[in-house]
Amino acid sequence: MFNKQRLLTPGPTPLPESVRLALARDMIHHRKSDFENIMFSVQDRLHELFGTSSPVLPLACSGTGAMTAAVYSLFRPGETVLVVNAGKFGERWGEIARSRGLKVVILDVEWGQAVEPQKIADMLAARPDISAVLLQLCETSTGVLQPVREIAAIVAKTDALLVVDGISAVGISPCPMDEWKIDCLLTGSQKGLMLPPGLALIALSPRAWQKAESMSPGCFYFNLPRERDSLKKGQTLFTTPVNLIFGLQASLDILLEKGLRDVYAKQWAMTMLVRAGARAIGLEMLAKNDYSWGVTAISLPEGIDGGKLLQVAREKYGVCMAGGQDRLKGKIVRIGHMGWVDWSDCLAALYAIDRSLQLVGGYSAARDYLETAMAAYNLALAGQPGVLPDSAQVRS
Ligand SMILES: *Cc1c(COP(=O)(O)O)cnc(C)c1O
Repeated sequence: MFNKQRLLTPGPTPLPESVRLALARDMIHHRKSDFENIMFSVQDRLHELFGTSSPVLPLACSGTGAMTAAVYSLFRPGETVLVVNAGKFGERWGEIARSRGLKVVILDVEWGQAVEPQKIADMLAARPDISAVLLQLCETSTGVLQPVREIAAIVAKTDALLVVDGISAVGISPCPMDEWKIDCLLTGSQKGLMLPPGLALIALSPRAWQKAESMSPGCFYFNLPRERDSLKKGQTLFTTPVNLIFGLQASLDILLEKGLRDVYAKQWAMTMLVRAGARAIGLEMLAKNDYSWGVTAISLPEGIDGGKLLQVAREKYGVCMAGGQDRLKGKIVRIGHMGWVDWSDCLAALYAIDRSLQLVGGYSAARDYLETAMAAYNLALAGQPGVLPDSAQVRS
């Protein structure tokens, strides 16, 4: 039977119509003034998205490319970095750093937990040779939001740089780069930015630029100082993915129309909806207290085959969600509720999970979970005192 397909994964995310239409435009030349003017106007708005006055450089690559650019532009082989490994993407920082010949000190965190900032403070104090801390703002594989604001306050008092993978957090929950004192913030196009994959964005603080300029980049393609020089002319070092920049214009129109605070409030309310609904079905969340505002990881009851459940949800109910990776494979469902996703998509996801649980494992939930979910959403949207966390109170 015909079903509308809903894409509720933590990347890629669905595309708004205005973005799709922008992507369909014919090519223009990336070294001519029409394009340069677009780049300048996009740049102004990227400062707002990242909360920085530093240049925000577009790179033609997936998010991992920007992670690579950060490591190869900021560190020389032989330097030591501290990697917070709280899941699949933390692991990736370690792999990239080793490929650059860095010495990697791993701070292992149990999957589903956030890192304790004090542990980072202790490690930096014990190891003055550590030249940077690398972590995720949102560890997408577990749905955990790391306390980056507190960590940044700690790292800023040392000589170490703080490098933050914000791929599943920029445009989803607050991360004002300058105010928090983040030295490198990066993201990819296919998560909160509601674009197809293929474009990444990266910004460096003044002290990170100093470091980048003091060395020769380890990679020909990712040369951030030369990218910055090109951006001054409204260009990129190599051929720009022109249509993704058109799309970015359209997505920034949506994200900044009423201000980022509005976007974050919607993200927060959807998070409340999903968590309350899943709990009312009788399920537990993997991340208990420090959770993402764009992806919720839900633990499945013992004996449920997560792969089968996802297949039923997709084929029978038209809702495409993500499973667990690695040691969480088959054990969790991750609902991506970032980007062009709203409350009704989230209700569809909850319904699909409930029905699929019954088909796959014979579970039957209390029937009022959709009501419970909507009540949590409306309460969060109304901005009840204490409901919006402090970190949401960013300047608009
Ligand atoms: C999606 C994601 C990545 C990987 O991005 P690609 O675009 O697939 O290279 C890295 N880190 C985080 C936190 C992510 O969510």
